[in-house]
Amino acid sequence: MTEGFSIAKALTAAAPTLSFEFFPPKDEAGANSLRNSIEELMTLSPDFVSVTYGAMGSNQDSSVAIVEQLSKIVATVAHLTCIGASTTGIQNLLMRYQSAGVAAILALRGDKPKGYDEQPAGDFTYASDLVRQVKQFTSFEVGVAAFPEKHPESHSLADDIRILKMKQDTGASFAMTQLFFDVEAYSLLVSSARAEGVTIPIIPGVMPFENARQVLRMAQMSGATVPPELDLKLSQASNEEAARTIGMDFSVHLVQDLLAAGAPGIHIFTLNQHRATLELANSANLA
Ligand code: FAD
Repeated sequence: MTEGFSIAKALTAAAPTLSFEFFPPKDEAGANSLRNSIEELMTLSPDFVSVTYGAMGSNQDSSVAIVEQLSKIVATVAHLTCIGASTTGIQNLLMRYQSAGVAAILALRGDKPKGYDEQPAGDFTYASDLVRQVKQFTSFEVGVAAFPEKHPESHSLADDIRILKMKQDTGASFAMTQLFFDVEAYSLLVSSARAEGVTIPIIPGVMPFENARQVLRMAQMSGATVPPELDLKLSQASNEEAARTIGMDFSVHLVQDLLAAGAPGIHIFTLNQHRATLELANSANLA
């Protein structure tokens, strides 16, 4: 499925890329929702998809199974976290992903699970250690995380950019952002990164508003700032459907502004729900 395909190359093509993130479901209802979403969203012929991977054991087998399944039908980026992981465990998984024809690895640290004060024991400290391991052990294309509003543990955006440059120097060829709502934050990240010699494409991640409360919860969890005007409008919405309309309108404008600002593509965090993703892709002419 992915022979000769390069995400970094696709991102330099004239047309912006369209890609989707899925996550491993936790129960049968979630599995149905994922199945339906994959079926519906494949009709948009995405350039690639990605599948999240729970740090430190949560639902990892399910993630691997979905990566293997999707790799048969579309270029698939497997997220991979290294916190608490062993070199052998990572190498075994990479070999499995090579056999499955996975397109690329998104090399991440992951977060400490609740209840851990210290970094759990493992062979890796930072995501850059995983980038190095994947590049040394395989020929996979490697992507990394980027943070328009800086990583919550970082002192500054400048520190994040220094680390992004280090990951590029270690072999990363594209970056994907955390959830954010402000095109200026993305533009500042990209221009600051370019000024420091980061040349790899940085794909913005966007979450459409299928359910406003859910998006606000995800924003809180990831530390994304919700613009006060949007927050106010959502809080004044007469019901859930009205809040969804306000949120979807915001998402469409955000995507249009990101493309106008030069974003090489749009990665949609689908939350395994296809309705809002289809609506966003069609309204913003991504499909
Ligand atoms: P790192 O690059 O290791 O950075 C973590 C912190 O350490 C940062 O503050 C950084 O500034 C600092 N740091 C990094 N390297 C150094 C160094 N050499 N010296 C000193 N400080 C350093 N999590 C999951 O569990 N599963 C997923 O599937 C997943 N998918 C994601 C997808 C995207 C697009 C994004 C943006 C995030 C995703 N995450 C996922 C969350 C991610 O794991 C967390 O944000 C995590 O806290 C940081 O990951 P990282 O790869 O940026 O880590």
